[in-house]
Amino acid sequence: MAIEHIVIVGGGTAGWMAAAALSRIRDGRNLAITVVESEQIGTVGVGEATIPPFVEFNQALNISERDFLSFTQGSFKLGIQFENWGQVGESYIHPFGAYGYDIGGIGFHQVWHKMHERGDKRPLQLFNLETMAAYYGKFSRTEDYARDDLPPINYAYHINATAYAQYLRKYAEQRGVVRHEGIVKDVALDGESGYVTKLTLDSGKEIAADFFIDCTGFRGLLIEQALETGYEDWTHYLPCDRAVALPCNRDDGSPPPPFTKATAHKAGWQWQVPLQHRNGNGHVYCSQFMEADEATDILIANMAGKPTADPNHLRFVTGRRKKFWNKNVVALGLASGFMEPLESTSIHLINTGVNKLIATLSLDGVTEAQASTFNRLTVREYERIRDFLILHYKATRRDDSEFWNYCRTMDVPDSLTEKIEVFKANGQVFREEDELFTTTSWAAVMLGQGITMDGTSPMADGVADASAKEIDEMAKSIQWLVQRMPGHKEYLERYCPAPKVAA
Ligand SMILES: Cc1cc2nc3c(=O)[nH]c(=O)nc-3n(C[C@H](O)[C@H](O)[C@H](O)COP(=O)(O)OP(=O)(O)OC[C@H]3O[C@@H](n4cnc5c(N)ncnc54)[C@H](O)[C@@H]3O)c2cc1C
Repeated sequence: MAIEHIVIVGGGTAGWMAAAALSRIRDGRNLAITVVESEQIGTVGVGEATIPPFVEFNQALNISERDFLSFTQGSFKLGIQFENWGQVGESYIHPFGAYGYDIGGIGFHQVWHKMHERGDKRPLQLFNLETMAAYYGKFSRTEDYARDDLPPINYAYHINATAYAQYLRKYAEQRGVVRHEGIVKDVALDGESGYVTKLTLDSGKEIAADFFIDCTGFRGLLIEQALETGYEDWTHYLPCDRAVALPCNRDDGSPPPPFTKATAHKAGWQWQVPLQHRNGNGHVYCSQFMEADEATDILIANMAGKPTADPNHLRFVTGRRKKFWNKNVVALGLASGFMEPLESTSIHLINTGVNKLIATLSLDGVTEAQASTFNRLTVREYERIRDFLILHYKATRRDDSEFWNYCRTMDVPDSLTEKIEVFKANGQVFREEDELFTTTSWAAVMLGQGITMDGTSPMADGVADASAKEIDEMAKSIQWLVQRMPGHKEYLERYCPAPKVAA
């Protein structure tokens, strides 16, 4: 059956990202797109840290970066600073760019290791532009210095999630997407095929469509409540199941750092996401080891200023839907699964989900092959991200709480064990196919949390010798560039100042 009407249920980040992207395929086609959302139910109200592919998502929509950052009170993000993960008192940055560059097919961290063994004690961080800029609170875009002899800068954004959804709503409505306010009370299925055919709102209004996108958040109104797709629970590996979120002022007048901060506590960790005018904060914790009151107290005690709202308490189960595309329903966002916010991958999965959907969809109708391709690719994507997240918990030397004792000693998927063992043996990281996280990402977290390389690839010896001069020049040009970059706050004030409003 031809697809002439697509209904997106849910108007959070997922719903409006899907609507905005799909609005671009309407041109010249007989295709209606409707979003149904309920102000009464509201959105999850968190999700403010992103990763670099999000920059491309907005570029593909021809969204002006300056305009969008100003509207969302956004700031730039060069990576994540992890505190107290390997051991209390330790800190490292997982940067968006690469350490150095691959020389002769050898990952730079291996060459660095060789240099280190030979007495060169310069830290690995010195060879990464994003880390150095983050340490000094500096920021520039590559376009600002546009010189081939200097490394490009990789960045993402911190954004006000509510403002982002509003921004995309306007974008999508201008391109013909129709929005309905109301609560979906009933979902009708076709007696034979089991396809979703029609929604009934609390007002009694009925909305029929050919294809549905479930963006209803943790509820999974269509994918789970109507289609009973099932959920694969990953709590064993990713045991945190609660969060309390609370924005605050930056009372001390400090500038917004160009990075997200993830500070481990005794039964979880705390995020700090700096926007232009406030910090987003939250404490992700494991209810088996901590109560909500204690989690809230720890959060408040470790924020940069006074709260600007009431605590928002959230519950979740880490894992994924057994199918992301079931019959004529695709789930995006929290309706499709959740792997906790540690590496800001959730909005990214909406982005790739929308891209895959647009690439796979045929307006001539749904086929089983489309659904199974979408599902296979998405499962792989989820599992690779899952392994990277588990690494942060597993690779700890902390033994100061029951939670960390559990994480340190838990079984992990064989795929992760193998990755750690290969890294220990000679520092090699294989980035598998189109895996999201890079060699630098894996090396940053493993080295940052105390996994050491026993050796390097035999190739690294010669490369370290032959490239010594090049490597020196690389470190010098990073230093030169960072010294000349403006402060992050100054950059924001000049490039994309947010109107002075409370949000
Ligand atoms: C604690 C926490 C921190 C996070 N931090 C990050 C982060 O830093 N970076 C990141 O990338 N991601 C993060 N995420 C994930 C991110 O918040 C989500 O991926 C993103 O907000 C998308 O949410 P959503 O649109 O799927 O769901 P929601 O925001 O929950 O939206 C659901 C929508 O469905 C509507 N709806 C539900 N039921 C009905 C109904 N019956 N009828 C009509 N409408 C209905 C609601 O009104 C709402 O509009 C975090 C998540 C959590 C829980």
